[in-house]
Amino acid sequence: MKISSKGSTMERRDALKVMGISGAALLAGGGTSASAKTKLSTFASKKKADIVIVGGGTAGMTVAARLRRSAPNAKITLIAPNETHLYQSGQVYVAAGLFSEFDNKRPTSELLPDNVTWVKDKVTAFDPDKNRVQTAKHNTVPYDYLVVALGCEYDYNAVEGLDVSDIGKHGIASVHLNDIEKGTSTGAIVSRLWLKAIRRKAQRSEVKVLFSDPQTPVKGEGASLSMLFLANDMLKGNGLKIKGKDLQHKVKFTLTKAGKVLFPSAKIDAALKRTMKKTDNVSVSYGYILKRIDKEKKVAVYANGDEEVNVSYDYLHITPPMKAPQVVRDSKLSIKDGLHKGWLDVDEKTLRHPKYRNVFGLGDVVGLSSGKSGGAVREQAIVLQDNIAAIMEGKVEPMSYEGYSVSPIKTRYGRVMLAEYTPKGLAPMFPLDPTTPRWIWWEMDLHLMRRAYFDLMMRGML
Ligand SMILES: Cc1cc2nc3c(=O)[nH]c(=O)nc-3n(C[C@H](O)[C@H](O)[C@H](O)COP(=O)(O)OP(=O)(O)OC[C@H]3O[C@@H](n4cnc5c(N)ncnc54)[C@H](O)[C@@H]3O)c2cc1C
Repeated sequence: MKISSKGSTMERRDALKVMGISGAALLAGGGTSASAKTKLSTFASKKKADIVIVGGGTAGMTVAARLRRSAPNAKITLIAPNETHLYQSGQVYVAAGLFSEFDNKRPTSELLPDNVTWVKDKVTAFDPDKNRVQTAKHNTVPYDYLVVALGCEYDYNAVEGLDVSDIGKHGIASVHLNDIEKGTSTGAIVSRLWLKAIRRKAQRSEVKVLFSDPQTPVKGEGASLSMLFLANDMLKGNGLKIKGKDLQHKVKFTLTKAGKVLFPSAKIDAALKRTMKKTDNVSVSYGYILKRIDKEKKVAVYANGDEEVNVSYDYLHITPPMKAPQVVRDSKLSIKDGLHKGWLDVDEKTLRHPKYRNVFGLGDVVGLSSGKSGGAVREQAIVLQDNIAAIMEGKVEPMSYEGYSVSPIKTRYGRVMLAEYTPKGLAPMFPLDPTTPRWIWWEMDLHLMRRAYFDLMMRGML
């Protein structure tokens, strides 16, 4: 097998070598960091302090493990309700028929770092003037330093006529749908059945499939694109172990985007548009904001400028509008106006609250222009590991987050475009052009990343 790389070709064994090196570097945490000046933690504080982390997802667990090292004498408490931890990045592979839902789960108790106290509860209010949080069952919990890592909420109801209970019915799927508190990802399972249903229908008739992306920031930015590309590839008989003739010509895909781009990074956007042009059956409508759906008639109604546009479909994939959890939106810690209204207010470089200086945030909950991803969390956690320890020592924050995020976009079964970027442009960790979909990234994403996530990132080692 030949693999093309920057105009040259690589034999499979060379590619494996590259993957070996990159995989090892990745697993050892030795890749260059887009934000951190070094990955070796230089700051540690022996001071005593109460550090409270709220949220036990990707961000909360990672930062707990890292702070455990940089603040060895601090009392660290993690408040989160979920007994099961879900690897959300694996949901697309569940839909694609390559993972089971079970593979993406671990008990929170297994991942919890040593000497971190877990309060299994929900935060119901923030009281930053009194340095404490209110919980549902454990009264108030005081802190010297607070790290907010509460993720984000789906807002399916923002689309008139749509309810979360409609996912999996009426031809509607949404790979994003999960319940972080319960550790379930119904949307991934539903999406697998949905893909099969599209293929079955295409055997009998023409099919219209609509993908709708919202105008809000979203986590896992490439997930709907991955679903679209995989759905189209599946029609050729790839993936999902479906044999049979090529049915691509029977299915028309329409993707609607609220903005003017497919992806926030210009070079990735251009590369994706080139990839799309290679297929005749995919079109994109820009400036479309989904207002309501008529589930019975299978019509989606959009605002497009001043006009209302009806789009009929047989199958609909929804990326839900997303917002900060209500407890954040209602608190003094949220941004009160503008583009990021409702999300957690933090400085884009230091991830520190501008007013409440002992409050920090990371992960999906922060109101920044950078992408929301597990990759972003990894960089942000490195920054907070050192900065909080430095602040405990009365020093200036040494580390700065440069807005890195990553999205492994599955352009077909066996190919991933590893879109690594910051608001300034591409930010590849490996010396390969990130705009080229590659087999090597597919292999890494499918076979290495989940293990690296549970065994290394959750331990603050990646
Ligand atoms: C379909 C899909 C595909 C994705 N693909 C990728 C990918 O390929 N690569 C990638 O890097 N990222 C991907 N992501 C994004 C990634 O999963 C998230 O960005 C990441 O999990 C964010 O971590 P977080 O800790 O901020 O939020 P979460 O992991 O969602 O955790 C939030 C935590 O807050 C807790 N919580 C919520 N409310 C409260 C409360 N009131 N009190 C206490 N605790 C509370 C929850 O129980 C949970 O523990 C994908 C996401 C989805 C949905």
